[in-house]
Amino acid sequence: MTETLCPPAARTPADYKSATKPVWCPGCGDFTVLASLTRALAALQLPPHEVAVVSGIGCSSRIPAYTACYGFHGVHGRALAAATGLKVARPDLTVVVTGGDGDGYSIGGNHFLHACRRNVDLTYIVMDNHVYGMTKGQASPTTEPDWDSKLSPGGTGVRSFHPLVIALASGATFIARGYSGDPGGTADIIAQAIRHPGFAFVEILSPCVTFRPEQRNWKQQVRPASVDRTDDAARAARRIMTDDGFNIGVLYCAERTQYPLRRERVGGAVAALESEFVL
Ligand code: SF4
Ligand code: MG
Repeated sequence: MTETLCPPAARTPADYKSATKPVWCPGCGDFTVLASLTRALAALQLPPHEVAVVSGIGCSSRIPAYTACYGFHGVHGRALAAATGLKVARPDLTVVVTGGDGDGYSIGGNHFLHACRRNVDLTYIVMDNHVYGMTKGQASPTTEPDWDSKLSPGGTGVRSFHPLVIALASGATFIARGYSGDPGGTADIIAQAIRHPGFAFVEILSPCVTFRPEQRNWKQQVRPASVDRTDDAARAARRIMTDDGFNIGVLYCAERTQYPLRRERVGGAVAALESEFVL
C-alpha cells in the first residue's frame, strides 16, 4: 500500500488566535490591530510555536493572551527589555512586542531609545491612542497639550512626545505608521516589519473610544503617505517632523548592523542554563 503524503494545510489567521475572548470595550481599535497581527502571521506562514508575543501593561498589552503563540505579559514599560533578552537568547524565534503609548513612551521610554539604538531584531507595535485607557483616562506622553479632561482640566500644556522622530534619531531601521481602521494595510505593514532584519517600529493609531471618543474621526483624517519610503534618514526626518501625524505607510527603511544574537541555541536543561551563571 502506498502511503499518501499530504502537504500541511496553509495556516489561517484563526490559527494564531487563542480561545480567550478579548475584554476590550466595544469599538476599541485594538480589536483590529489583533486581527491585523494574526493576518500578518498567516501571510508569513510562521509556525505559532516559533513566534513569541511580549507585552507590558495596559489595554493593548493584553494581546499575548489573545494569540496562540508563546506569550509573555510583563511589567509596566519593560516589554522591550524582556523581548531583547528573549531574542538574544533565542534568535530562532520571531519576537513581536505589543503595547500602548503610556507603557512604551513613559516608563518604557528608556528601553525604547536603547532598543532602537541597538537595532535588536524585534518588531515593536505600539497602539497609540494618546491616553492611558486601562487606568481611566490620564494624559499620556502623546496626549495633545490642550486636551481638556477631568483629570487634566484645561490641558496639560506639555508638548507631545513624537515617537517616530525619537525612533529615527535613536537608530530604528524600520519606521511605519498604521491605522487600526485599515486592517489589511496594517497587516501588510506588520508583515514587512517582521521580515525586516533589525528593529522595526510600527506606530498604529488605535482609537480609545471610551476616553477619547473624538478619535473616531481619525478615519476621516488618515491617508496613505504620498511619498514612498526612503532609506535616507535626513529626508525621513524632514517628512516625519513636518507631517500632521496621519500619513500611513512605511516611512523609513534602512540597513544597519544588528545587535549580536547568540549563535548557539540555549539548551533546554535547567542545569545547563544554570552552569552558565556559576561564579
Ligand atoms: Fe480600548 Fe480605551 Fe477601552 Fe482600553 S479603555 S479597551 S483602550 S476603548
Ligand atoms: Mg494609550
